[in-house]
Amino acid sequence: MKSRVYFTAVHDANDTLNVNKRLTTLLEKSGVLAFILKGDKAGVKLHFGEEGNTGYVRPEHLRVICDGISGKGASALLSDANTLYRGRRLNSKDHLAIAHEHGFTKEAVGADIFIPDDSKKEDKIDVRIEQKNIKIAKIARFFIEADALVTVSHFKGHILTGFGGALKNIGMGCATREGKLAQHCDVSPVFFADKCLGCGECAIVCPAGAIQIKNKKSVLDTSKCIGCASCIAACPTMAMFIDIEAGDKTQEKIVEYTLAVLKEKKGKAGFINFALRINQECDCWGADNPRIAPDVGIFASLDPVSIDKASFDLVNKACKKDIFQKVHPKQDGLKQLRYAEYLGLGNLDYELIEV
Ligand code: SF4
Ligand code: SF4
Repeated sequence: MKSRVYFTAVHDANDTLNVNKRLTTLLEKSGVLAFILKGDKAGVKLHFGEEGNTGYVRPEHLRVICDGISGKGASALLSDANTLYRGRRLNSKDHLAIAHEHGFTKEAVGADIFIPDDSKKEDKIDVRIEQKNIKIAKIARFFIEADALVTVSHFKGHILTGFGGALKNIGMGCATREGKLAQHCDVSPVFFADKCLGCGECAIVCPAGAIQIKNKKSVLDTSKCIGCASCIAACPTMAMFIDIEAGDKTQEKIVEYTLAVLKEKKGKAGFINFALRINQECDCWGADNPRIAPDVGIFASLDPVSIDKASFDLVNKACKKDIFQKVHPKQDGLKQLRYAEYLGLGNLDYELIEV
């Protein structure tokens, strides 16, 4: 049976008043928050944006969603887990600070913000899933124990998965640092010697001692590499870069992690995708990056697979081509959706309802 995906067109992301008007209509007509009950503690999973990034979903729009949740007598708590890479979201203190700098304050969004701490045992939980790649998923406890989960995703390109939407936001985004490492660990960096300055930053951050500097160039011992990608984040010239051809297994792992987060949330999870400010790369990039598509609109659904497929289809329709294939030609982003359907997370077939 087809899943319903509600959609409202938005042609100018900078027209905040109109975006919020469209969003309010979307929430009302779609009933995407209807599963939230009085007294629920609802987690809102989002991405606060790395320092320098401009693609993330704006706090003004989170305000509308949080008001929708509190209007049901429930409380909303905005959250994201810390990153694997060096940057402003590596630990909870800095992560909260960058969230505030991007305007995500309690006053602005009408909800508290909680960043699970990887150094605290009580903030983490193991979820047994026994899937092909992942047997036990390492998740930030908050997302598992929230009474309900609303996932707010910025739909955009992604170097490892072609595009990123709800599945990527949940699977990678709710994982602890250990869980993120598990999802990346088949992806060792590729070294481009001609770009290397010999600065040594990669060797400093490498937790596995896999890098040495010899003759003013980095030397990578792949047998020691655990695929954490810290050197990629640290390298100023992209001499260390991700092996984008190894992304297929990562896509499967992301989907298996999504299953771990959602398996106890049946009937208690909703998804909202913003296909606005559609960048080539994800919101983890600590710099602005090219817009690859016009603003398209906002989607709401109870099905994480359908909402990502509808977002993918409508963005490509607006571009008159598969723009994600064009900017990330080595990735088949639909693989994540096909595998998610196979695991029973949702349907590729959807009914689009424009509001
Ligand atoms: S990806 Fe490998 S080489 Fe790079 S920092 Fe991590 S362990 Fe070291
Ligand atoms: S961080 Fe980049 S430029 Fe610096 S030594 Fe490592 S690979 Fe070379």
